[in-house]
Amino acid sequence: MTSGPLPVSAPRAPDSAHSDSAHPDAAGRLAGTLLPVASAAIDRRSAERADPSFLTGVLRGPGTMALLVSQRRAAFDGERLALLPAGLLPAAWLEGLVVYLGRLPADPAEALAAEGTEPGTDVVLVALPEPVEPVEGVLPEPAVPGAELLPDGARWAGFREAGAVLDAVEASLLIEATAIANWHEGHVRCPRCGAPTEVVHSGWVRRCPQDGSEHFPRTDPAIIVTVVGPDGRLLLGTGAQMRSTMYSTLAGFVEPGESLEQAVVREIAEEVGVRVTDCQYLGSQPWPFPASLMLGFTARTEDVAAEPDGAEVVRARWFEREELQAAVLSGEITLPSSISIARALIEHWFGGRIAEPAGTGR
Ligand SMILES: [Zn+2]
Repeated sequence: MTSGPLPVSAPRAPDSAHSDSAHPDAAGRLAGTLLPVASAAIDRRSAERADPSFLTGVLRGPGTMALLVSQRRAAFDGERLALLPAGLLPAAWLEGLVVYLGRLPADPAEALAAEGTEPGTDVVLVALPEPVEPVEGVLPEPAVPGAELLPDGARWAGFREAGAVLDAVEASLLIEATAIANWHEGHVRCPRCGAPTEVVHSGWVRRCPQDGSEHFPRTDPAIIVTVVGPDGRLLLGTGAQMRSTMYSTLAGFVEPGESLEQAVVREIAEEVGVRVTDCQYLGSQPWPFPASLMLGFTARTEDVAAEPDGAEVVRARWFEREELQAAVLSGEITLPSSISIARALIEHWFGGRIAEPAGTGR
């Protein structure tokens, strides 16, 4: 890597003709309205949860609610998370993984829509010890101990399927639960000696009983970038794993020993052969599939040619604003869903919401 320092450029105001709900704030960052998880403030009580008796006390609390997960999906009641009173759960359910997620905001305006959930409620994640196979997405009612606690028609879903209709608090809970459950699933043994580790700190640390080492949940940083050309056009690409009509922002993982800005320059050069400068941070989004933290940037380039590498990116294309909107409305191309930072970054460049064809959800 030979690139020089990357000066932070002053934010450009979006074209006023396109502005509605997507004004950048004073720092030019993504407006809260563009990201579904930006505004929720769940108190994780991180100083208290290390106390060995903390989780037991929370589980005995009269108002504590449980978010159930199984096989990377959560229990839903219609379009809302199905939170159950923790005190009613079968003892067998609490023998598996239980993690303290946090205390819901005390402001009723930010309260959760889930039935029986008051502002200030403590919420725990309960991973069913015997994974329940969904049958056509619906929980099997008979034969599952405790299934009678679930509302009629309860179903399993993940953030990708259900995230678009969740409010910000629910989305934050589901992302946190998914991320920490994924980490536990893949880290049951000590990386030093191979012994099975035990869960401590209310689910936020795993400790090795053999050598005493402690292991903390990890998050993998990834950069995701809108590349803007000399004529103001936006460069989007189709990843090798994407549908052929999909165009999205370019992205990649940060390597050890690399700064975020260096990762932006390297990944864009690798994927489409474009040299970028003026790298500016815009906002972040946890993306727990399985453990990413997406760090959103915009960068500029003087290059006009983009050559996809054919491996990670199979197509690259420059768009003007009107051209992008027309291509979406005609169905020629599709963009990432509204729950993704990719969409928020694209709409940040666009200067407002991008309309979808009638009859299609986002
Ligand atoms: Zn060990």
